[in-house]
Order: sequence, then C-alpha cells, then structure tokens
Amino acid sequence: MTKPEALGRIRDLAPYAPGLSIDEIASRHGLARVIKLASNENPLGASPLAQDAIRRHAAQAFRYPQGGNPRLAAAIAALHDVEPQNILIGNGSDEIIDLLCRIMAREGEHNIVCFRPCFSLYPIQARICGLETRRAPLNEDLSFNMQALLDLVDESTRLVFLTTPDNPSGYCPDAASVASLAQAVARRAPAALLVVDEAYMDFTGPEMSLLASGNIPANAVFMRTFSKSFGLAGLRLGYAVAPAAIADAFWRARLPFSVNIMAEAAALAALEDEAFRQATMATVRKGRELLARELELMGCRVWPSHANFLLFQPPANAPKARQCFDELLAMGIIIRTLDGYGMPDRLRVSIGNHEENMLFLNAMRKVLQSGQQMP
Ligand SMILES: *Cc1c(COP(=O)(O)O)cnc(C)c1O
Repeated sequence: MTKPEALGRIRDLAPYAPGLSIDEIASRHGLARVIKLASNENPLGASPLAQDAIRRHAAQAFRYPQGGNPRLAAAIAALHDVEPQNILIGNGSDEIIDLLCRIMAREGEHNIVCFRPCFSLYPIQARICGLETRRAPLNEDLSFNMQALLDLVDESTRLVFLTTPDNPSGYCPDAASVASLAQAVARRAPAALLVVDEAYMDFTGPEMSLLASGNIPANAVFMRTFSKSFGLAGLRLGYAVAPAAIADAFWRARLPFSVNIMAEAAALAALEDEAFRQATMATVRKGRELLARELELMGCRVWPSHANFLLFQPPANAPKARQCFDELLAMGIIIRTLDGYGMPDRLRVSIGNHEENMLFLNAMRKVLQSGQQMP
C-alpha cells in the first residue's frame, strides 16, 4: 500500500502551540491561584448576558443546531451593514482559515502569502492542505512591508493573509494601506483573496478598520472572532464578511453543525451586551496604558499596541525573556514566550483586569530586580 502523501506532510508539521492552561501550572507548581495572561482572552470574562443565554439553552443540548446559523448570520450582517449572504460563521476563526485554504487552493499547485512572523495557523493549515507558503519579513520595527508581501504574489497565489492589528506586535496599518494592498493583489492575482484578520480590531479605533469603513474591496475577506472582545473563546465562534460566492462555497463545505447551540445563543446575547463591550474596552485601554508605562519604567522595551496585549523585551542587564517567563510561571503568572514567532528575546502579555495587571507588574519587578547584575 502506498503511503498517503498527506501523512508525511502532517508528520513533519510543528503543531499549533497554545498558551499554557491554568490547571496545568497550578498542579505543576502546587499553586492555589494562577493568573493567565497568555492567550489574549477577555479580562472581564464572558458577558453576563451570554452566560444567561447559555443557561437558558442548556435544556436544548439534545437538539441539533439549526443548519447554517441564519439568525446569527443576520445579526452579524446587521452589525457590519452587509447582506447575510456575505457572512460565514465557523468554529472559531480557525475553522474559517482552514476552510478558506481548502476552498480556494489546489494541493501542490497554489500558494498562500503571509508575513514572517504571523499567526501560526495560516501556514499550518496551508501545509496540511499541501499548499506552498511564501513569507515576507516584517520591517525591523515590526510594521508591514506591503511591497515585500506583494512581490511574493503571482498568478498561483490564492490567499494573502494579513492580521490587523497584528499578533504578537500589536501593530496596525491604516485602512487606506490595506485598501491599496487589496487593489494591488487584484492586479497581480485576479483569483486571489486578501484575508484580513481583524480578531483584535475592537481594541483600537474603528477608523483603523477597512471593514468598518464600508469600502469593502471585491477581493477581500474580513475575519472577526467572538474569542477576544466578546469573551467567548471557549465556545469557539468566528465569522467573516466575504464575497457572496466565497460565502456560498464555505457553507457548502463546512461541516453542518460545527457551531453549536450554546455558542450561537451566547453570541446573539453578547452582540446585545453593549455595557459589557464598553467595560471591556475601558478595561483594556486603561490596562494597556498602565502596563506599557510600568514596563517601560522597569527598563523594558515596549512596542506600541492597538490590541489587548503588549509585546515587550526585558532590559539588557536583566534575566533573559525565557528566564523571566519561567520565574513568573513559578509565581503563578502565565504569559507567552515567542520562540515560535522567532522572537526568543521578547515576551507577550495579555492585558488583564486591574488586579491581574498589578500582580503581574509586582512579580515582574521582583524578577527583574533579583536578576539585576551590579556594574
Ligand atoms: C486569537 C486570534 C484569532 C481568533 O481565533 P479563534 O479561532 O476565533 O479563537 C484569530 N486570529 C488571530 C491572529 C488571533 O490571535
């Protein structure tokens, strides 16, 4: 029997490395309390209205969900002032990324284009699908070199991925430069889609979003998620605004029930929870300012962020990033190393609630002081 080709491809694959879990660290270090600032989850938890909706729908757990999530698609379409035929909904943005690769590209023939580093799921799913991944380096300051990205696009390109604001830097290009990129991609590769991942867009001003501008290019797909600003990461729900033909292909290809009844009910409620949304934004903005200021006072380099996390680098005379991470872990605080992003000397911390932010800052101060070398 011949070995399926995909098996070799998948055996060599470095799998997605998620942030460590609270239970894992609590038991490893014998800690009563562990704080997780590793996965950019909502600092206020899940919307109270969404929690109510989940409870109210608990008894419906024996039912299959309605196919195609029409109520949720209508609500999302209204939110973005587009037609329901332009909405696709998946089990997290992750499912949308996977299906876009499968719908758009042929194994061994087509390529995808993204930056290095970028969200690791784009190249992982592309590889599983047998697609070539072409990667343009970010600028030195982690801003986007759009021309370098464009230079990799040719007539075999099917998807160009862009994360705005970007993970793990928090950088966000302006909407006009994303619009120009979409035009340039259309000229070079008429069959390609520009996929703009706006997972963190709610944490910056709406003027940064090409989707919110209403000026939607015909070759663009905009991904959003309920995992971050809506606080529903554990329920797995993402969506995209896309050309109707792409949305149609997506719904034909998607597994019929990948979005479950609780997730749909919670999302509909979360969309109505304006108070929670406002509180989330206020918490993130205040926390982001506090963490940036205090980390800089400790001598860290901090990258400006439009998202609900900060990228930072410990000062030269302090313990290295990996050691800071390990010492924080032993104190019950989980943040994120960035070896996988090719940034072993930097760390990423999610903005928490005020108490979590203060505990992180105090612990970080201790770590830096303990390791300080006297001149
Ligand atoms: C967190 C995140 C997402 C959201 O993924 P889900 O599958 O919807 O939880 C998407 N893109 C990026 C870059 C992210 O960091």
